[in-house]
Amino acid sequence: MLEDKNQITSNLEELGEFGLIDTLTEGFENKQKSTQLGIGDDAAVLNFGDEEVVISTDMLVEGVHFDVTYTPLKHLGYKAVVVNLSDIYAMNATPRQITFSLAVSSRYTVEALQEIYEGVKLACEFYNVDLVGGDTTSSLKGLVLSVTAIGSAPKAQIVRRSGASETDLICVSGDLGGAYMGLQILEREKAVFKENPEMQPDMAGNEYVLERQLKPEARRDVIKALADFKIVPTSMIDISDGLASELMHICKHNDSGAQIYEDKIPVDYHTYKAAEDFNFNATTAALNGGEDYELLFTIKQKDFEVVKGIPGISIIGHITDKASGINMVTRGDQFIELQAQGWNAFKNKSDS
Ligand code: ADP
Ligand code: MG
Repeated sequence: MLEDKNQITSNLEELGEFGLIDTLTEGFENKQKSTQLGIGDDAAVLNFGDEEVVISTDMLVEGVHFDVTYTPLKHLGYKAVVVNLSDIYAMNATPRQITFSLAVSSRYTVEALQEIYEGVKLACEFYNVDLVGGDTTSSLKGLVLSVTAIGSAPKAQIVRRSGASETDLICVSGDLGGAYMGLQILEREKAVFKENPEMQPDMAGNEYVLERQLKPEARRDVIKALADFKIVPTSMIDISDGLASELMHICKHNDSGAQIYEDKIPVDYHTYKAAEDFNFNATTAALNGGEDYELLFTIKQKDFEVVKGIPGISIIGHITDKASGINMVTRGDQFIELQAQGWNAFKNKSDS
């Protein structure tokens, strides 16, 4: 509901609450069998038959999670959906529906909101999910987006953060650290622009890391490949906060330790190059950067040969007993303990 009519532009006011919802949600078509009733009633009606249902929500706040000075609104809508779908895939489930809610200040026009919804629509089409509801309200300052994703899977297929045992192999999809380096470039160019608005942003050669930041994808392809090869990971999490932090979550849920190898951590050439330009350690970006939305998962040793053959998956280490801690073996064959707070110590070492 547009509860506070004073906070929205005349543009939005002319259209009215229902006009706005209609405008934003126009052209969305339901594709999923489980969607019995979508937008328009007091609630959506879903039916998943025998499958288990998984639900995940994320909220994105302007100035905290995104900066509209360099984030195209269409990308923002796309990313807001994708980061939620990533959580559903991380349960080894298939996303089916989303709800999309926004709180919007008077700074935003109907056209701006439509741009966000263009991105939402693109994501819904690409990932084959239905937009079945949401809420629209005003905010005093800035934009807040909240997305809920709903997915399903047969019970035996669902993978949690727990379930790994000692000696299980630790795998990651894709490559890490790119989204963080993309953000550094965007922040640098924003600062340059602030100093001198005449300056054109210099993004050339950095397309890969910029795309990793602005238009991430959820790893539906990895989930499909694992299913095709009949691999059910023993545990899984998506990498939203950086490899170190997610590995700690896995170890906490499994009451285990872990050992990973720096030279096995996948980092793209463009990420290395960008890190070099910033005089930044690429491993630090991979371990602590975040927003890569890759999957971190564990598999049984017996599945090694099969998983080794799946393109885009790297085996980076193994689960150990808890007492051994969470360690990374560096390129120089040193053991470094990864700790939530102990990270700074490592950063100093590797950056010096
Ligand atoms: P209510 O007053 O019952 O909350 P609303 O007027 O907020 O109903 O919403 C009417 C319908 O439009 C509902 O199906 C709701 O889920 C949907 N809806 C509202 N806002 C959005 C939005 N921003 N995006 C998608 N669907 C929305
Ligand atoms: Mg409502």
